[in-house]
Amino acid sequence: MGSIKRILVTGGAGFLGSHLCDRLVGMGHDVICVDNFFTSQKTNVAHLLGCGNFELIRHDVIHPLWLEVDEIYNLACPAAPGHYQFNPIKTMKTSVMGAINVLGMARRCRAKVLQASTSEVYGDPEVHPQPESYRGAVNPIGPRACYDEGKRAAETLFMDYHRHNGVNIRIVRIFNTYGPRMHPFDGRVVSNFIRQALAGEPITIFGSGNQTRSFCYRDDLVEGIIRMMNGPDDFVGPVNLGNPGEFTIRQLADLTLELTGSTSQLVEKPLPVDDPERRRPDIALAKQHLGWEPTVPLRAGLEKTIEWFRSVNLGDFRAPTPNWQ
Ligand code: NAD
Ligand code: UDP
Repeated sequence: MGSIKRILVTGGAGFLGSHLCDRLVGMGHDVICVDNFFTSQKTNVAHLLGCGNFELIRHDVIHPLWLEVDEIYNLACPAAPGHYQFNPIKTMKTSVMGAINVLGMARRCRAKVLQASTSEVYGDPEVHPQPESYRGAVNPIGPRACYDEGKRAAETLFMDYHRHNGVNIRIVRIFNTYGPRMHPFDGRVVSNFIRQALAGEPITIFGSGNQTRSFCYRDDLVEGIIRMMNGPDDFVGPVNLGNPGEFTIRQLADLTLELTGSTSQLVEKPLPVDDPERRRPDIALAKQHLGWEPTVPLRAGLEKTIEWFRSVNLGDFRAPTPNWQ
């Protein structure tokens, strides 16, 4: 490994952030995790609190923070549709003001800064699979816009700080990622289906269930993020990170039932407004520039995720908002 770096992870107590902190602490770096615990809890990083190279700060990224660091991974933002729509103005503030604050810090410290962007910047895509060159079809006034447009504005800010202020940036566009430590009450499809299947409750299919998603296991994703941060300075992205395997939501429900051995029934619920119909990443750029591609198939990743859900006590989790059912 190279030299030890001081690394800030915003949203570091969340699902992806906590795994990223695990990896970075394991590599020997000095890691500072900043989080306001809106959609996470301290338990995700409790095992790191005794490590000499890990620090936890409760802070909201919409407010400036003065730290001296070498690298910043900017992950702070609610990611599940129900929770990011709960307080949409706050979601937009988190994306935009959070980006301005970390970019300001990066400029002052000459730190490298990576933005966790999203496949949602493609909206409900007319181009399939989605390459980074596709500009997307986002409804700017719909209920998902607080997140989609917030993340798009953050990408704009990153590129402008890069072009105008010479800030060393990276942008990754993350496609649906799942795995242990997903919040059981985040309302996302993988956590909902597993929780429902294990409890013998009806599996809630929104709409026809023929809409598709591509599901990436968290270890693959975290590896991709770290490679992007450490990749060549002339490849700033945006780069898609996701698993190109594409499944309908019904297929995901069937696989979850099979792997849990559950006899839960499938029930249809209304499709949320602006719910994208198809989504699959074109990962040619990640392969070419980072030598990265996912290695964990959906079945294997789901097995590990189900095992984790079986091992936790749901009573230990607080639902961030009521929007998980
Ligand atoms: P998560 O909700 O588990 O993590 C987000 C973390 O950010 C949480 O710990 C939350 O408390 C924190 N946070 C939210 N608002 C904050 C604020 N104002 N100040 C400080 N902390 C704040 O979600 P995740 O799946 O781990 O997502 C992490 C990042 O990756 C997010 O930026 C998300 O948009 C992006 N992303 C995730 C996925 C996915 O499928 N998991 C897909 C696309 C993009
Ligand atoms: N979905 C579903 N049942 C659920 C939760 C989600 O059918 O209990 C659907 C949702 O409508 C969407 C897909 O699963 O089509 C993925 O939803 P999620 O919220 O996980 O992420 P998105 O990709 O929409 O941001």
